[in-house]
Order: sequence, then structure tokens, then C-alpha cells
Amino acid sequence: MSENLYEILKANFPLGEAVPCLILSDGKVITYDDLDREAARFANFLVNRCYVKPGDRVAVQIKKSPYAMFLYLAVLRVGAVYLPMNDAYQRHEIEYFLSDAKPQVFFCIPEKKEVSIEMARNAGVPFIIDIDERGIGGFFELLYKEVDYFKTYESKGDDLAAILYTSGTTGRPKGAMLTHKNLSTNAITLHRYWEFRKGDVLLHMLPIFHVHGLFVANHTALLNGSPILFEPKFDAKRAIELLPKATVFMGVPTYYVRLLLERNFTDEVCKNMRLFISGSAPLLPETFYEFQERTGHTILERYGMTEGGMFSSNPYKGLRKPGTVGFPLPGVSIRIVDNNGKEVGIEEVGYIQVKGENVFKGYWNMPEKTREEFTEDGYFKTGDMGKWDKDGYLSIVGRSKDLIITGGLNVYPKEIEEVIDRIPGVFESAVVGLPHPDFGEAVTAFVVKKNDEDGKNLSEGQIINHLKTTIANFKVPKKVFFLSELPRNTMGKVQKNILREKYSDTFK
Ligand code: AMP
Repeated sequence: MSENLYEILKANFPLGEAVPCLILSDGKVITYDDLDREAARFANFLVNRCYVKPGDRVAVQIKKSPYAMFLYLAVLRVGAVYLPMNDAYQRHEIEYFLSDAKPQVFFCIPEKKEVSIEMARNAGVPFIIDIDERGIGGFFELLYKEVDYFKTYESKGDDLAAILYTSGTTGRPKGAMLTHKNLSTNAITLHRYWEFRKGDVLLHMLPIFHVHGLFVANHTALLNGSPILFEPKFDAKRAIELLPKATVFMGVPTYYVRLLLERNFTDEVCKNMRLFISGSAPLLPETFYEFQERTGHTILERYGMTEGGMFSSNPYKGLRKPGTVGFPLPGVSIRIVDNNGKEVGIEEVGYIQVKGENVFKGYWNMPEKTREEFTEDGYFKTGDMGKWDKDGYLSIVGRSKDLIITGGLNVYPKEIEEVIDRIPGVFESAVVGLPHPDFGEAVTAFVVKKNDEDGKNLSEGQIINHLKTTIANFKVPKKVFFLSELPRNTMGKVQKNILREKYSDTFK
């Protein structure tokens, strides 16, 4: 039996019933039948025009649109490997991806066609095609010459379905190789765990070059044969308009913060909602509680990464604990170990390792790196640090590379950030280690003030004095900088590497 992910998704498509699949912002509806047919047309285009064969990579940097969805599904159907790229990536990044992955074809946006052609040529990519998200241009004339049926390639579970380059804050970005089995296992698990049901409608405002929007959101909705309110990007006001028509929403924490800034974001807006899911970056407990108070809904936080989709989730039924990412998902084994690989006890911080059918096959073209990142007994070293609480809930304490070692002592930034965030007048904070001649690294805090009286009066001295009475002295920041906002990437992750680089001379 084919283990092609597309076939697994399609087995649940409500075909022949005119059920909406993608409902676009202009009201246009693409049914499940349309989706199947258009994905077939794109698949024929890939094979007939670009000579794409199973196993070939197809690189994509186009805007979020139904065409991007058709293309993704078409790549699966052909048995090729989907390589999506963040639309923020610049020339030197793209050039690296193209020369590393050697795709058969590169789909770009019309605005960047000239430079894309040059990059593709330098990297030896045979075909380069621009796709306009409005469905106009030469590509579509050729596309509609193709027929709208296609026999999906019979992939094996271990065949590659996608390569996603990780953001790689240090060293070269790494291409995580994900198989059909990796993706389908995780999709089926999440679909069940979050209890998708008849009548569900997903509001989709995430980008689709990343695991969250491309896999988690799309696959669960498609497996359910549900309509997707498919929006080009997140916009709080638009979300408020659409939420009454939805039952499930997935977002990064910033989306929730922005929704709460809107006065007309109320329980009434959320009255048809069944589930709000957050992930990709830590959700502040403050946001969790404020959301609960405003809407009556409890955000469900989960944890995962490019290299394996989702690993843990707060329960659908049962207590969702703020500041935690819940329990290991069924079929996923998670352990937390110390420097010697020994499992740590409850409330002890260590390195998170995971194992399961969802965990990726390795890094593209990097066998050495792949070997380093797996233990002998097959666990993947996530690079995250975490701890268990007494009830078995997992908390993420931060990335191991963000761990600060000051005067030989370990400091976990999250612990300090949590204390700072509770000081009146603080909106949010980020704590990093900066090079220091004496201590090796000096704990340094970056704080965004609230726009209120407390915020206006807040000073560095006040924060430091407060911390001195709350936490051990070696953990107290040597310096506090006030910023108007923290640098974040599109997935809402605070880019601590930017802070470290920009402020690296502070103590020199
Ligand atoms: P990415 O591969 O871009 O999805 O990034 C994965 C990383 O995001 C993980 O290794 C974690 O460091 C972080 N992450 C994902 N979900 C959460 C969460 N719920 N809480 C804290 N960190 C998270």
C-alpha cells in the first residue's frame, strides 16, 4: 500500500460533495474536489514541463496562496521533495539552499524573478518559474494546458517528502529531511489528540513555509476534510472578523498578544471556537490568563520543532498548565538528561531528547552532523533544555545554546525572565549572556516596558534591586537595557543571537 502522505490525506477528503476546502479572503471557495484536481494539474506540470522525478527537490519561495497549497500537494503526489523557503530569506541564504539541495526547479515570486534566475543559474538549477499569487502570468497559461488527473506516486514511508532548512542561528542552516511517514504519523496523532471532529473549521493565518502552518495546521484540517479559512497572513482585526466562523485557531504567542490588544476581541467573537493552540515560541503565563479571562477559552500550548513536528502537547481534556508544554504525544518518547546522558529527576533541568516515528531522518548532506545529533539508542538531541513537574508536564527552559555560564555557574534565562516579567511596568524581557572579561559571560537583561504609569517610572536600578531580593546574586543581570520591542522572527521567536551580536562589546 502506498504510504504517500497525499494519499493518506486524500483518503479523508469529502470528494464529490462540494465541501469547501480553502475559503479565501475574497470569498472564493476551493472545494476538496478542486484541490485534488488542481494538485493533479500542478503535478502534471512538474513532470511534463520540468521533468521532475521522484526524489527530486522542488524549491519554493512564493507567497501564501492556494497555488502554494496546490504546489505543495503536487510535489507530494509526484514523489518529489518539497523545499519551502521563508519569504524573508535573502540572496545569500537562497543561494546556499539552492546549491546545497540542488533542486530540479525553483519557484519564485515575479518581483524577484531576475535575481532568482541568476541564483538558479549559479546553483545549476535547470528550471526557474515565477508564480504570481493572483493566478496571472505566463506560468498559468502553460499550467492550464495540463490535465487535472494524476496517479499519485506510490511512495514508501521512508521516502523523503520535504526538506526544511532550520533557521540556524549558529553555523550553516541545516536541511531537515522529513519522510512521508514522519509527516503522516504526526498528522494522525495530532488529529486524534486534539479531537478534530465533524463541523470543525480552521482559521489559518500562519505562513506556510514552516512546520507550524505547513504541516500542523494544514494536515490536521485536511485529514479532517474541514474547511480552512485561508488568509494570506495574520492580522488581528481580520482574525476578529473571521473567528465567529471558525472552531480551531493555531497561532504563535505574538498572535495572541496582538489579539488581546484589540478592545473588541471578546468572548462573543470566540463563541463558536472549540480550540486555540499556541506554539513555536513560549506563551507567557500572563497571556494565557488574560486570554482565559477575556474569552473563557484556555489556550492549549504544545511543543515541537522542524526536525520532527510536534513532540508534546497539553491535554485536550484535562488541565492545561500555563508555562508548560504538556505531556509527550502518543508514540513520542521524551527524556531529559544531564551532561552524562543520565535521566534527571523531577524539577531538575536537563537536555531534552526525543524519539518516535515523527522524528526526522537526518540533515541533508550532513551525515556527520546527523550522527552527532542522535544518541546511540536513537534519540534526537533537540538542543532544548527542560524539566518535568511532579504531574508529568514538560516545561521548556530555553535552548541549550542560550544557557548562560557566568563565573562557572549555570543560569537559565527563562528563570530570570519570569521574575522580571512579573515586575509592574514590564511588558516582556529577554535575558542573554554577553562576553565578560571576568565572568566569561555576564547576565544581561533586555526589557520592554508597558505603556502605563508603572512602565514610565521603571528604571534599571529598580529592576536590579527587585531581582537582588528575589534570586541568587550571580543570576542578577549586570546590566538592563530598555528596548521598544524585542527582535523576533516571523514565527514570533525572540532572536537572542541578534541581541548577543549587537551588544557584544558591552562589557569589553
Ligand atoms: P522551529 O524548528 O523553527 O519550529 O523551532 C523549534 C524550537 O522552537 C524548539 O526547539 C523550541 O526551542 C521552540 N519552541 C517550539 N514550541 C515551543 C513552546 N511551546 N515553548 C517554548 N519553546 C518552543
